[in-house]
Amino acid sequence: VSSQLMDNTQISEIKALLSTPKNIVIVPHRNPDGDAMGSTLALYHYLKLYNHNAVIIAPNNYPDFLKWLPGDDTVLKFESQQNESETLIKNADLIFTLDFNAFHRAGNQMAEILEPSTAIKIMIDHHQQPDDYAKYMYSDISMSSTCEMVYNFIEMLGDTDKINSTIATCIYVGIMTDTGSFRFPATTSRTHRVIGHLIEKGAENSQIHNNTYDTNSYSRLQLLGRAMQNLKVIPELRTAYITLSQADLDEFNFKKGDTEGFVNYALSLKGIIFAAIFIESQQDQIIKISLRSKGAFSVNEFSRAHFNGGGHTNAAGGRSDDDMQTTINKFISILPQYKQDLSQ
Ligand code: 5GP
Ligand code: MN
Repeated sequence: VSSQLMDNTQISEIKALLSTPKNIVIVPHRNPDGDAMGSTLALYHYLKLYNHNAVIIAPNNYPDFLKWLPGDDTVLKFESQQNESETLIKNADLIFTLDFNAFHRAGNQMAEILEPSTAIKIMIDHHQQPDDYAKYMYSDISMSSTCEMVYNFIEMLGDTDKINSTIATCIYVGIMTDTGSFRFPATTSRTHRVIGHLIEKGAENSQIHNNTYDTNSYSRLQLLGRAMQNLKVIPELRTAYITLSQADLDEFNFKKGDTEGFVNYALSLKGIIFAAIFIESQQDQIIKISLRSKGAFSVNEFSRAHFNGGGHTNAAGGRSDDDMQTTINKFISILPQYKQDLSQ
């Protein structure tokens, strides 16, 4: 049993709040992933059972491989529907922030609207170092996923019998994607028991994996081929990294989400415990960085210290405002500082 659950007072207060229909806005982080969309949609479908006026506002769009999720058509995108989104946020009684714990992770523009809002904020999140904007905070870095926490949240409210196949499907997706299909260390026996329960409630597990992972385009696989050709290994520091330039992306008709999971191939090399992918974005004028590790080496701390990002111990993101070559040079020059951690 986790010690990080909400306490009984908080739960009864939230129950009281949810006992009459409210205007509720649910927000995932910018560039939402499977856990962000799975958790917000699961909560959305749950709140709809109680006739709340609930809406999900995603800071921006997300990959096509998540567009099959039930309720996808109801999701607003702040980036392209700013006026409507601002009105909804201003009229909200409650704002749930899911799968992130600092307003800037919703993007600067949306953060500026969320910050002054007087709505009651509820955070459900499993990232490190949460900010303290939320009146009700369910924050637990030991959790596999925000989706597993949404399951726990519904359980704390005494409503597991309300979980239908739609809610079960959404929760399943986020647990599956954030655990790398049930293989990362945060996957516990409890995670599997929750998954078992979701299947009993009607989550069609095999179909969910197919919908999410077996809908590749030919060009995405070709881009993966280029990424593998660009893979570099620094064996003495047990590190491997991949670069993809804007030209690489353009050549293979890059679409949002196409590079999801590429970094894991670098981490799958025998003996490698630290992997990175550097992806150029001409539009944002940055190099987007994804970092992964095995064991104790914290990519969260590495990213916070050097690349303006953060995340978890074994999975983090960041960015660089320099060009690709400068960014790679910086990365390579920093690594020896971590020789102790990386060579054991
Ligand atoms: P990814 O590499 O898949 O984009 O992100 C890996 C993990 O790090 C995710 O949990 C994501 O939410 C988190 N993350 C990604 N980018 C950032 C960032 O810029 N700042 C922080 N704090 N976390 C990030
Ligand atoms: Mn997550």
